[in-house]
Amino acid sequence: MTDSTTPYGFATRAIHAGQEPDPTTGSVIVPIHATSTYAQDGVGGLRQGYEYSRTGNPTRTALEQCLASLERGKHGRAFSSGMGATDTALRAMCRPGDHVVIPNDAYGGTFRLIDKVLSHWGVEHTPVALSDVDAVRAAIRPNTKVVWVETPTNPLLNIADIAAIAEVAHHAGAKFVVDNTFASPALQTPLELGADVVLHSTTKYVGGHSDVVGGALITSDSELDAAFGFLQNGAGAVPGPFDAWLTLRGLKTLELRMDKHSDNAELVVEALVKHPKVKKVLYPGLPTHPGHEVAAKQMRRFGGMISFIVDGGEEAALAVCSRTKLFTLAESLGGVESLIEHPGKMTHASTAGSMLEVPSDLVRISVGIESGDDLVADLLEALG
Ligand SMILES: *Cc1c(COP(=O)(O)O)cnc(C)c1O
Repeated sequence: MTDSTTPYGFATRAIHAGQEPDPTTGSVIVPIHATSTYAQDGVGGLRQGYEYSRTGNPTRTALEQCLASLERGKHGRAFSSGMGATDTALRAMCRPGDHVVIPNDAYGGTFRLIDKVLSHWGVEHTPVALSDVDAVRAAIRPNTKVVWVETPTNPLLNIADIAAIAEVAHHAGAKFVVDNTFASPALQTPLELGADVVLHSTTKYVGGHSDVVGGALITSDSELDAAFGFLQNGAGAVPGPFDAWLTLRGLKTLELRMDKHSDNAELVVEALVKHPKVKKVLYPGLPTHPGHEVAAKQMRRFGGMISFIVDGGEEAALAVCSRTKLFTLAESLGGVESLIEHPGKMTHASTAGSMLEVPSDLVRISVGIESGDDLVADLLEALG
């Protein structure tokens, strides 16, 4: 079932891939292997390949195999955070003098890492609107080693055409990475569309319960995986066994959750588009969304993230954020509970004044899996 071409369905792989009953006790659930080191049968005599828990841990292995299976990749690597995975991926693929193409509305932390950290090591970058394939092609330079895509993007829900950009990247001899955090493998599998690497902040939909921070890299390119594994061990941004276990537990219900997130988001979108105080709703499931056609081609459903522009400017947007009762005012996304936030003052405050700056009248919601009607009523009341 960990073979990337297994015929088993998504939900079956989520529950079984990498998760055989424990060979010593029969424990049906993969145990939390809380150990830093492993007894050896004579010098170098490793029992199951494990020698030290930074290098490998059986709970982490189960998570890595399950993630690889769900993304239809050959190899998975788990990290202590999405940023740990991002840093590992970029340092494995770039050397001083190399160039990266990134979304002009990239996740703030990704932009900060490239702009404020990797730039000191001589890695150059060009932010472009990834919904425009010609703009991506124009941004490629002879030293471009990586094209980095998020789709849908955060918080503007822009859509990039994964298959089309894969072609552009590969034509230029660059590696193509897709941050699949917003869609999750339940809705979109970029490796099947030509991506070389899929990245996750497993903190979000994969973990799904807002109780653990983590990241992952999945690829079918064995050379890349070896480079990721070398840095995973060599730089050490690894998750502990309890974090790996919580994330694996979250994965088991990913398909169910993504369906309910999508159902609820559809109800909320329907109510928002009709509301006189909402100027614009950004959701790739809306036929009026500029990326709808591409999204419909590459996503199974459109997920639980919605942004909208409130009539009345920043003040009105902040008021809505402070008036909801079920939608909790908080950063992050992808958990079972609904969250609301003001990107301009919260998640994307660091983009102020840059080309990644977001509109001040924008509100972002992460629609949870509560009863959909309650969520709609809560938002309508907050809008007044
Ligand atoms: C949250 C997030 C990250 C960073 O992940 P952490 O787990 O917070 O380190 C990267 N990309 C996207 C799209 C995210 O939403």
